[in-house]
Amino acid sequence: MAALSPMMQQYFDIKKQHPDKILFFRLGDFYEMFYDDAILASKELELTLTGRDCGQEERAPMCGVPFHSYENYVARLIAKGYKVAICEQMEDPALAKGLVKRDIIRVVTPGTVIESSMLQDDKNNYIASIYITEKKAGVCFADVSTGTAHATVLTGEKLGPEIISELCRYSPSEVLFNAAILDYKEVTAYIKQQLACSVELLDEAAFAPDACMEEMRAQFGDAPEKTAGLAPESPAFTALAVLLGYLKETQKKGVERLKTVHNYAEAQYMQLSPVTRANLELTETMRGREKKGTLLWVLDKTQTAMGKRLMRAWIEQPLVNVAAINARLDGVEELVGDSVARADIAAALSKIFDIERLMTRTVYGSASPREIYALAATCEQLPRLKALARPFGSAEITALLADIDELSDIKELIFAAVDENAPAMLKDGGVIHPGYNTEVDELRDIVHGGKGYLATLEAKLKEETGIRTLKIGYNRVFGYYIEVSRSFSNQVPANFVRKQTLANAERYITEDLKVLENKILGANERLAVLERQLFDDLLHKISAELPRFQKTASGVARLDVLTALAEVAVKNGYTKPVVDEGDELIIEEGRHPVIEQMLKGALFVPNDTVLDCGDNRMLIITGPNMAGKSTYMRQTALIALMAQIGSFVPARACRMGVVDAIFTRVGASDDLAAGQSTFMVEMTEVAEILQYATAKSLVILDEIGRGTSTFDGMSIARAVVEHIADKDGGMGCKTLFATHYHELTDLENAIDGVKNYNIAVKKRGDDITFLRRIVRGPADDSYGIEVAKLAGLPGEVTKRAKEVLKVLEATAPNADKVTQLDFGNFEKFAAAPVPSELVDKLTAVDVETLTPLEALNFLYELKQTLVK
Ligand code: ADP
Ligand code: MG
Repeated sequence: MAALSPMMQQYFDIKKQHPDKILFFRLGDFYEMFYDDAILASKELELTLTGRDCGQEERAPMCGVPFHSYENYVARLIAKGYKVAICEQMEDPALAKGLVKRDIIRVVTPGTVIESSMLQDDKNNYIASIYITEKKAGVCFADVSTGTAHATVLTGEKLGPEIISELCRYSPSEVLFNAAILDYKEVTAYIKQQLACSVELLDEAAFAPDACMEEMRAQFGDAPEKTAGLAPESPAFTALAVLLGYLKETQKKGVERLKTVHNYAEAQYMQLSPVTRANLELTETMRGREKKGTLLWVLDKTQTAMGKRLMRAWIEQPLVNVAAINARLDGVEELVGDSVARADIAAALSKIFDIERLMTRTVYGSASPREIYALAATCEQLPRLKALARPFGSAEITALLADIDELSDIKELIFAAVDENAPAMLKDGGVIHPGYNTEVDELRDIVHGGKGYLATLEAKLKEETGIRTLKIGYNRVFGYYIEVSRSFSNQVPANFVRKQTLANAERYITEDLKVLENKILGANERLAVLERQLFDDLLHKISAELPRFQKTASGVARLDVLTALAEVAVKNGYTKPVVDEGDELIIEEGRHPVIEQMLKGALFVPNDTVLDCGDNRMLIITGPNMAGKSTYMRQTALIALMAQIGSFVPARACRMGVVDAIFTRVGASDDLAAGQSTFMVEMTEVAEILQYATAKSLVILDEIGRGTSTFDGMSIARAVVEHIADKDGGMGCKTLFATHYHELTDLENAIDGVKNYNIAVKKRGDDITFLRRIVRGPADDSYGIEVAKLAGLPGEVTKRAKEVLKVLEATAPNADKVTQLDFGNFEKFAAAPVPSELVDKLTAVDVETLTPLEALNFLYELKQTLVK
């Protein structure tokens, strides 16, 4: 077989290091892909597949993309889950001797992109690192594009669900982990099915303590345990170190962007399971997975990209610390109180660019001149922003103002260095501002004024020599020359060096002309080099101030979110909730924040909620379909959640003790992908609630037991209610429970703390009107047929349904009895006193000495006692 061409050999050497990535191989103005990569990419990107001579008989399959528009192609491959290695020419091909040097400058993976074209403004792009050891997990999330990192250690008994909960909160686009994760099937299933993100199982060697310490030292200095705030023996230390190693390997440069780590304890935030987040439609709707129709959609009136990302983060992580919640609320309150200042602040914010991501690109050296100019334009807004917010005295606003640095030194530096009309691409020139660097100015003079210099020189030589026909010309071979017609050649001075002889003229050069030629021809080139060098220097200078920018970005984002919350509060008529350590949840005239916005024009009917850990622990809510049960329960949950974000709430008044978690079981979210039935899903979710809810939790149960037969369903529903409502053996947490089992309404008399409510409807003849009002007491009828009529079922059908119902009620009197009977039996176990005989027998028996057969007989005996 013929040998590969040298370039192809080079290609293979590089490809060998990245077998699992698509290699973008820079060739002149294109990034080319070869062989399998080419075949794959041509399909995925709809590119024409061609071939290239590679030294062997068969041409290598090849396809390519223009270098200036590669981002778009890389973005599409990343979105499809591929990783792309970018291989650059490391020297100018025009100057290279022999084969051009090439090297990988970066590997682009879903979790490490920094290009704005591949990122969403309003969303962080997280890469996660999970290190599991000895039933503990170090978990770390970093957003390379904004330079933020969060780390925590999970130690709970239920490590799997805890990891899932963190993954759900950050929804990373890439996850790194060690092999131990494979023991947690629920986690791997969640990553695969729900996150559908790119994963990387790393070698155990990467997790070795020495390697990790070295990595952390390189990033955080000699005492990383201090600077990063993580003890070396913490699994979070390892998770972060491994993440840094991976970033370094893929990014090559710019990893220093990750300067600070935010160590958080899970307990800092309200616990929200993935199911609850989905059910409450915090950031995306259940149906279309859209933003419209979510809490985020209602609250996100932020002006900056940083504010948008922070608003999302706040909604994803409601607080539980009363002081921290009230600090935010006080900040919002001040802004609510001053509409003029609020509007001015919003206007100033709207001119602020994405400092976090601009800084990332600056540190990486990939910021464009225009972006740097935008950074300065942003700095220009800061003094005004601070001045506008300064009159406010709340601790929250004071603190964030302290973080915002006016950065005027940087602004002046940039404005002095970068031209206002700087192009998007550095190579287009004209980047450096006139007056910033004398050499640039001179070179530009030469480039633009080169002809002038030549004319001046020509005139000077004419005068000196007295040769009237002397002229300066140019050709490609000799460059600039002085041409003198033959008749004057005897007058040519000695310093003229003859270069070429034509039919009736001689061509010369002189030292002066040579210098000028070098100047003119070299000026453009040197100008390009110099502009790049000066621009790079500028990027370095700005990068050195990264911590100031980072703080500023954080301050701006917080101000933006508080201002947005205030704006929404005023526009939608929210009130400031009173949040304390108590256990009440009292809402006066509460509304559903999203549905009230969706109803446009139609009025949302407000309702009160009274929940506590005493007499009003559990509200059982009945009422016909479509009455508004689900809406009412979700509204209560959303109001509690909003308050703990630090937002005002849609109510006339609200007083509440912080809630440590919200659990919901709403609707039938049939998990078809996992192959589970509705009922199974439902029961898994209920089991989770029973397991994790504490007395400080808020639980929403919407029609549980629906997925199975009536009696099963009702029995389960009832047992669940009893367990939750039971203060001693059970949980005693605040619970809202909607049900269509009217039988359950008599629990009010059986268990203290249970209260019946129903959503009122008005019946007139066959017609019903929904009043949307929640009132005390059980609903008296299910109005199924009336609701069907309201929904547009034809008159004949509803009429017939009535007839059928009548017949059923008349001819099957047992139907009622069966319910009664069955229910009675059930009651015996649940609430009726246990027969004393049973108690005696049970107390007497010594379980440990029973043989299996004796146990069976004993069980039979017990049963007999009961049936007697
Ligand atoms: P249920 O759970 O009782 O079947 P939903 O809570 O799903 O009923 O409510 C059905 C619809 O009624 C909602 O989509 C909403 O449009 C409307 N609705 C519910 N509550 C109210 C209210 N308080 N004010 C106005 N409309 C409401
Ligand atoms: Mg409902």
